[in-house]
Order: sequence, then C-alpha cells, then structure tokens
Amino acid sequence: MLDWLRQRRAQRTLARRAIPDALWALTLARFPFLAHRTDADAQRLRELATLFLADKEFSGAHGLVVDDAMAVAIAAQACLPVLELGLDWYDGFRGIVVHADAVLAAREVVDEAGVVHEYEEELSGEAMHGGPVMLAWRDVADAGESAADGYNVVVHEFAHVLDMRDGAANGVPPLPDRAARERWVEVLTREYDAFCERVDADEDTLLDPYAAEAPEEFFAVASEVFFVAPHELRAEHPAVYELLRGFFRQDPAAHA
Ligand SMILES: [Zn+2]
Repeated sequence: MLDWLRQRRAQRTLARRAIPDALWALTLARFPFLAHRTDADAQRLRELATLFLADKEFSGAHGLVVDDAMAVAIAAQACLPVLELGLDWYDGFRGIVVHADAVLAAREVVDEAGVVHEYEEELSGEAMHGGPVMLAWRDVADAGESAADGYNVVVHEFAHVLDMRDGAANGVPPLPDRAARERWVEVLTREYDAFCERVDADEDTLLDPYAAEAPEEFFAVASEVFFVAPHELRAEHPAVYELLRGFFRQDPAAHA
C-alpha cells in the first residue's frame, strides 16, 4: 500500500477505534511488564496495539468467545517486540486463533533404528509461516504472574513470526546486512551451545530448558525473558541481551 494511504488509514483507525482508557489501564495492571517503559513508549505501544487489532482477525476455537479484554491483552503483548521495528513486520499473516487451553498435537519421530515413535505434544502456542498464530488463552492470561519466571507465550510465538519473516525459522531474523548476520550467528551459536551443555548437565537455568531444542527456540525463549524479565537476562546472558537489544532496538532493563 502507498505510504500516505497507509498513514491516513492508520490515523483514522487511531481516531475511531482507540482502545478505551479503562480497558488499557486494566491491561497494564494485569500485565505490568507492558508498562516498564517511558510514558511516550507506553503510548506508542497502545497505538500500535490499536492498529494491530484493526489489522488482524481473531477467532476463538471450539466456541471460545474472544472478548475485547482478551484481544487487547494479546495485541499489546504481540506489539512489544515490534514497538521499534514497526507493525509491517507482521504483514505476513492475518489470523490469530485462540484456544481456551493448551492443544495436544500428534507428533512422530524416527529413531536411529528407523522406528517411528508417535507421541502427543502439549502446545501453548504455535506460529506457522504465513499464519495463523495459535495461542492458549490460559497461558496468555497467566502472563502477569509467569513474567517472574521469564515466561511469555505471546512474545515467544511472535518472535517466531519475526524469525520466519525471511523464510526458515532458524533463530536468525532478518538483519540489516551480512556482517550483522555473521555476528548474530556467531554469538547465538556460542550461547546456544553453552546453554545446551548446561541443560545436559541438569543445571538450573534462567531460560526454560525447552530453549535447548533448537536455535530458533533459543531465540524465542530468550526473547520472552528479554521483555518480561530483562534484568535477569542481562545478568545471566549479557551477550544475548546485547544481541536482542540491537535487534529489537529496545533496552527494557533500563526501565523495568
Ligand atoms: Zn517455539
């Protein structure tokens, strides 16, 4: 879309469909990590969430009704990672499907002997190339409390969306140039390998051990902690914190 047309539409949306004051205040109270920024940034987050709500299509699975408070809770958390990058980073999908609870997905793996093992995996969220993004409301609703553990399903799934913007989910989101990509891969690989060794040794880790599954999960899990428990991430993984600070163009530990 032409820039001026897009801007005019955005202005109209902000004027006509602004998130009501009371609902926004309620959202910040339920999810205090959203408010850990300057007043100007918090205001921009509200505007971005308004535009997100106008652009995306929410649907509830199995008869779940997604009310305004739920949609605003999801939109505000989803917009955190793109507060500085811009909403067009989410242009590649439209749908958000909300389930009441975690979803069981049938999975299978083939072991070294060629034997197929079937199992069920409990998913609190899932992001697919081209969308939709699936979220379990139970986990979204808990995000205020689970922030202390560095857990946030919305940031996790939308970090995957950013990662997949250039194709594969591989822990490397689109970066400005080749030097930035090489630097990213170098730091992420080193930190990921060290993390996997700690998980293998059964050490207690700030990041959920699930991050050891693959580099893309390490990126998504680290992004969660970056936004909801930034001090802890900066203390335990300073190099990862710096990498994410550069990519997201935000410094959440400065205001939390
Ligand atoms: Zn994931």
